[in-house]
Amino acid sequence: MTGNGGAAPAGSLWEATAPPDPSEGPLSGEVRADVCVVGAGFTGLSATLELAGRGASVVCIDQGGAGHGASGRNGGQVLAGFKWSPDEIVAAYGAERGGRLAAFGGAAPEVVYGLIARHGIDCGLRRCGWLNAAVDGAAFDRLAGIAGQWAARGAPVRMLERAETAALMGTGRYRGAMLDERAGALNPLSYARGLAAAAQRLGARLHGGTRALSLERDGEGWRVSTAAGVVRAREVLLATNGYTDGLWSGLAQEVVPVHSLQVATRPLPEAVRTSILPGGQVVSDTQRILLYFRLDDRGRLVMGGRGSLGETNRDGLYRFVEDAACRLFPQIRRTDWEFRWAGKVALTADHLPRVHELAPGLRACLGYNGRGVAMASVMGRAMGEWIATGDAGVLPLAPVPLRPLPFHALRRPVLEAISAYCRLRDRMSWRRGSVKGTRLEAGD
Ligand SMILES: Cc1cc2nc3c(=O)[nH]c(=O)nc-3n(C[C@H](O)[C@H](O)[C@H](O)COP(=O)(O)OP(=O)(O)OC[C@H]3O[C@@H](n4cnc5c(N)ncnc54)[C@H](O)[C@@H]3O)c2cc1C
Repeated sequence: MTGNGGAAPAGSLWEATAPPDPSEGPLSGEVRADVCVVGAGFTGLSATLELAGRGASVVCIDQGGAGHGASGRNGGQVLAGFKWSPDEIVAAYGAERGGRLAAFGGAAPEVVYGLIARHGIDCGLRRCGWLNAAVDGAAFDRLAGIAGQWAARGAPVRMLERAETAALMGTGRYRGAMLDERAGALNPLSYARGLAAAAQRLGARLHGGTRALSLERDGEGWRVSTAAGVVRAREVLLATNGYTDGLWSGLAQEVVPVHSLQVATRPLPEAVRTSILPGGQVVSDTQRILLYFRLDDRGRLVMGGRGSLGETNRDGLYRFVEDAACRLFPQIRRTDWEFRWAGKVALTADHLPRVHELAPGLRACLGYNGRGVAMASVMGRAMGEWIATGDAGVLPLAPVPLRPLPFHALRRPVLEAISAYCRLRDRMSWRRGSVKGTRLEAGD
């Protein structure tokens, strides 16, 4: 993969650096299992691991392989919490349930670190902290409120003023930042494949290149049909998130899949590398269309931003992210870019994940709104526990009926137009030398 300077997508950095996919080839013939998991991302793999660890026989299938979807394509930022602040969660769900939910979100990175340590997953984990960089005073004040809420709960979260932020980031663009020391960075595809290998060691079967084509009731259980095989299982978990297709009517209409794009440089020369993010944290900012970025363990700058809902103008959108990176760090040259890739995040109407019992023995969990490295891992684990015990009380979020978004088909052009407008406003703000505005950043 060589510097493409704006040409066709060159493929994912993680694909180029992760160990091979340990999944078996496509399923053929009929297999029986206690549980069939559809989707081998963090949700499906964590559930598979949990179930296999509890002695269940599990077959996990994916149309690609382990980490084929968002889980193998993301920014690798291990972030605590949901999109909602802890106080917002408590206000909506009450002190007991809301408090539990906020604590569950806050502890999610620790669970990931525990899984990585327990299963010896080599995925370049760094416990480095997250800077949520404020583009203006209003964003700074909003983040200060959230930091205060976490700090009141004993979490290592605090605000940094402009100078300290600039020193950690190597750019003076931001008004300040919230530093959350719970966060980390990893190679997400290595993590996904490590989870897959750990589940296999516990006896789970994992088949790549195996798309679930239909799902039918089969006595007390379910029959999952693929091109060359069938899984007959007592329970099924759909863990298909932004890649959800028509397998179960209405599920795909509950989320809006949005492409998020990433670009990465080649390993930067020492003098350049040490001038960018010298604090070593991962970052996302509060632009209308947010930017998220970090260094990898070889000193490449990896930067992402919200792309399109469809496939339109990919080249222009990649350039948008590369240009934004070069504005923040002018020491990066256009020829330094080596990788471009994209994946789909699943947005929900209220920015919280959804848990469903779609029918007896058929469950689904999806909708992490671009915050799924830690969250999908812990939700998948909780889904596995629920399936194994039958006790929905183990879940942080109660199962809810399916609620397809009204006018789902029309959301695409509307959101496309809003995104284009926000991107333009962000670009104009940069030209004026400051970045203004804060909202429409639900995803990444
Ligand atoms: C570019 C990008 C950057 C991101 N950055 C971050 C970040 O830095 N930090 C963070 O916390 N989150 C980030 N996210 C979000 C995070 O990656 C996701 O929330 C998380 O990976 C979701 O995991 P999942 O297992 O639910 O879904 P996915 O990983 O998307 O897995 C779903 C799987 O289902 C499979 N599938 C679908 N239908 C079928 C079928 N019929 N049969 C078989 N298989 C099927 C797909 O092949 C896919 O592998 C980012 C996402 C993207 C796309």
